[in-house]
Amino acid sequence: MQDQTYKIRNAFVKEMPKLSLTHKTLEEIIRENVDKKTIIVADAYNYPKIQAVKSINVKRLIFVENTIKEEIKRIKENNEYCNVIAVGGCTALDFGRACSKADGQTYLIPSILSTSCISVNRSVLYNYNGDHEIIITPMPNRVIMAFPVLIDSTPSAVRKWSHSGFGDLFANMSATIDHLHKTNKNILMHMSGKIFDLIHSYVPECLTALEWVIKDFRTFDQKTLRRLSLFLYNAGTSVIKRGDTTLSAAGEHELYYEMMKQQKYNRSKSTHGEIVSIGTLLTAKILEREFAEGALFKKLKIAYKKLDIPTRYDELMQINIERKHILDGLFAIRDKNTFLSMFCSEELVDDCYSH
Ligand SMILES: [Zn+2]
Repeated sequence: MQDQTYKIRNAFVKEMPKLSLTHKTLEEIIRENVDKKTIIVADAYNYPKIQAVKSINVKRLIFVENTIKEEIKRIKENNEYCNVIAVGGCTALDFGRACSKADGQTYLIPSILSTSCISVNRSVLYNYNGDHEIIITPMPNRVIMAFPVLIDSTPSAVRKWSHSGFGDLFANMSATIDHLHKTNKNILMHMSGKIFDLIHSYVPECLTALEWVIKDFRTFDQKTLRRLSLFLYNAGTSVIKRGDTTLSAAGEHELYYEMMKQQKYNRSKSTHGEIVSIGTLLTAKILEREFAEGALFKKLKIAYKKLDIPTRYDELMQINIERKHILDGLFAIRDKNTFLSMFCSEELVDDCYSH
């Protein structure tokens, strides 16, 4: 009996994407892993770098601009390949996963740590109207975190992308609150200072990240990128283990998708994690005002300030996000069955972001 349990567990662990932390360059990684049966998909930032790698035997190098479902379908139909290497931010990784084949190898090489999508088996795809859909993909085989790739940018760009990663990671906490509200309202009504115990029992890795930022974070150096890589990788594999995104995306992501659709933000000016961080902070504010539990809001605000994630309207304006955008987004999700849409109001948004 024990043997069998062990085998089942082992088989399950084998399926998880493996994590490689390395100091190899992008060129070294590409040369080691590419062959005639492999396509490489890369975003605007990484495409020219791979193009510059001479004499590699690759099936095709594909430029990724977006994750339009129809375009991915065309790539799959018109190219014969087995393996996929995806290089870039989440758009490129989503694209690569969506192109991947169940019987081939899929390697993901994040060049930025901007979201918690780096080690999941799903992709966000869009149609031409901007509506999104989440699809389950074959399991990626390996996530390669290469420090020379992650720091191959200006320090301010590394900071912006990486604080976005923390912003997306903290959304696990607002999603957990949403889940608790849907499944066990009593728990939220009678928390009496137990909010962190509750969060810990659902998304412990996320609470560890919050505590680490408050206590140990100094700057976006290699130590921080390493920690963030591990936090994001673990958050991604947790989604695979649970089999759904209940504890990683809720109202704060609904608000993000709606604000993106309405405002069409430039993704490098207003990043995924920065926009998602708004709904997370608002969720914590609701806990403070409606459930007499202000501890999470207090901690999130300290962490946001340390990481340089906006906590005031004037800071949001610097990344092109206006007060009206938040209110319009909230209005559009008003009928969604989420904790955020149920309790959020104009007054609460002002209370959260005016000072
Ligand atoms: Zn996200």
